[in-house]
Amino acid sequence: MVLPPEIREDLLIHIKGNQISVENDYMSVESGVLLANIVHVAIQNGWQGVEYLSGIPGTVGGAVVGNAGAYGRSISDVVDSVEIWDRGNVRVISKSDCMFSYRDSVFKKEPWIVLRINLKFGSGSRNKLKAVSEEITAQRKNKYKDDLKCPGSFFKNIVIQTLNPIQLKAIDQAKIISGKLPVGYLLESVGAKGMRIGDIAVSDFHANLLINLGKGTYKDVSVLVDLLKQKVKKKFGIRLEEEIRYF
Ligand SMILES: Cc1cc2nc3c(=O)[nH]c(=O)nc-3n(C[C@H](O)[C@H](O)[C@H](O)COP(=O)(O)OP(=O)(O)OC[C@H]3O[C@@H](n4cnc5c(N)ncnc54)[C@H](O)[C@@H]3O)c2cc1C
Repeated sequence: MVLPPEIREDLLIHIKGNQISVENDYMSVESGVLLANIVHVAIQNGWQGVEYLSGIPGTVGGAVVGNAGAYGRSISDVVDSVEIWDRGNVRVISKSDCMFSYRDSVFKKEPWIVLRINLKFGSGSRNKLKAVSEEITAQRKNKYKDDLKCPGSFFKNIVIQTLNPIQLKAIDQAKIISGKLPVGYLLESVGAKGMRIGDIAVSDFHANLLINLGKGTYKDVSVLVDLLKQKVKKKFGIRLEEEIRYF
């Protein structure tokens, strides 16, 4: 994690805190806890709300910053409050102050460090939750081979409400899922699969995955990304926005 320039430009912090405490249907977790561990503990307790996040790599801190999610669900569904470090002060902010939206949050805009997250779950059937989690984990294992060098979905799916009538006319409405248009459909429609700049390529099985074939550079990424954005803009009039962050 890179702290804002007013502190020290070259400071990198690795959050290690990985304590989980549970009480009733609440879980209080330090931000260094892996999201996978939270999914595991929630399912063990028959708690509903994160089973669809099975297989998403990274920590709960990173998940909260990007409001990570899948299958129309997000970590924000179960966030109750968040403890932050804000320029030397530690305080707790409410869920509404996190300003969560699709793959976005206040944490992308403020130089805060997420220290701890308080989560509140619904109750569910442990076996059903486990079955959902196993199904999703198997699908993801198929999609994301272990040696695949990629940062996950590269561009954000398109929120349908943001499209104007001309843009709506240009897309296949049958592709819309839970109010969003999979960006993979747009990229596939402009022939993105297999496109390559240097050692960075669009995967040939999922058009919203950019993979590093070995010696890919930032330059390769930025040239390919510009090309993809231009092609989608030209065909659909839609501006793509990255889900990943550049550092
Ligand atoms: C194969 C693969 C599949 C993926 N699938 C999905 C998916 O289905 N859905 C999805 O939403 N994402 C997905 N991702 C993206 C990734 O898993 C998430 O973005 C994840 O939440 C990142 O967590 P991290 O701990 O690795 O964060 P990092 O990548 O280390 O950090 C992400 C951002 O959060 C900031 N940050 C991290 N921790 C803190 C903290 N404690 N306080 C303040 N800022 C912090 C960092 O500075 C950085 O800006 C995938 C990634 C990969 C590689």
